[in-house]
Amino acid sequence: MPMNHDLHSHSTASDGTLSPAELVARAAAAGVGVLALTDHDTTAGLAEAARAAAAQGIELVPGVEISVTWGGGTVHVLGLGVDADDPILAAGLAGLREFRGWRAREIGARLARAGIPGAYEGALALSNGRLVSRTHFARFLVAQGHARDERAVFRSYLVSGKPGHVPGRWAPLEEALAWIAAAGGIAVIAHPARYRLTRTRLRRLLGAFKEAGGQALEVVSGSHSRDDCLAMARHARDFGLLASAGSDFHGPEHPWIALGRLPELPEGCRPLWEHWPEAA
Ligand code: AMP
Ligand code: MN
Ligand code: MN
Ligand code: MN
Repeated sequence: MPMNHDLHSHSTASDGTLSPAELVARAAAAGVGVLALTDHDTTAGLAEAARAAAAQGIELVPGVEISVTWGGGTVHVLGLGVDADDPILAAGLAGLREFRGWRAREIGARLARAGIPGAYEGALALSNGRLVSRTHFARFLVAQGHARDERAVFRSYLVSGKPGHVPGRWAPLEEALAWIAAAGGIAVIAHPARYRLTRTRLRRLLGAFKEAGGQALEVVSGSHSRDDCLAMARHARDFGLLASAGSDFHGPEHPWIALGRLPELPEGCRPLWEHWPEAA
C-alpha cells in the first residue's frame, strides 16, 4: 500500500495551534505515513517533531514554508528535507523573522489608529513568544469581538486596502531557493491556486521558479478545489515540475482541513516522493 503523504503542516512554532508533538501524534492517528512540518519562516519545531515521529513510527520530513515577495505580492515556497542547522538557511529565516517583528508592531500601530488598541500585545501573547503571524492578530480580534471568524478579520482588517495591512518585504524568490538548496532541500511552490494570479502571471512565476532551480508544485492542497488540482497538474507537467501534496493543516479549529485526508494526485503527475533522490 502506498504511504499516505502529507507534506505541508503547521505547529505552534508558527501559526498552528498544536505543538509539534501533538501534531505528529494526530497525523499518526490519522494514518499519515510521511508528514512534513513546514512552519512559516522557522525550523524551531523540527527537533520536537522528529522526536515525536520516532516515537510514533511515522516519517518526519523536516521542512519550512518561506515567505517570498514576487511580482509585488506574497508567494509561499516550501523547503522539504532541509537541514535545519544549515547556516545559510538559518540566517535567511532569521532575517524574515526580524521583518515579522517589525511588521507586528506596525500592524498593531495601524490597528490602534483604526480604533483597536492592544492588538500587538494581544497577538504577541497568543504567539507564546514565538514568531508573530497575521493569524495571531486574527485570533485576537475574533476573541475581542471585532469579527465573526479569522477569515472575516483578514477580509476587513489585514489585506491590502484595509486598516491593518502592512505590505510584505519577504525574501526574493531566487534567494529563498538558494537557502533551500544550501540546506539540501527540495523547493516546492505552496498552494499555487491561492494567489489568484492570472494564468499568464502564474506561468511567469513557474518559469522563474524553474529557472532558479525550483523542483516541485503543490498540486494537491487543502485549499485547492478539484479543478485547481487538475489545472495545477497540467502546469506541473508543462514546466517539468514534480507534484507534491499537503493539507496545510493549522489545527483542529479548522475542521474543513484534516491531516491525511488528501485526494490522490491527478493522473500523469510525477509524485515528489517517488523522485526524492533525483530531485535533491
Ligand atoms: P503571515 O505570514 O503572518 O502574513 O500570515 C499568513 C497566514 O495567515 C497564512 O499562512 C494563513 O495561515 C493565514 N491566512 C492568510 N489569509 C487568510 C484568510 N483569508 N483567512 C484566514 N487565514 C488566512
Ligand atoms: Mn499559516
Ligand atoms: Mn502558505
Ligand atoms: Mn502553510
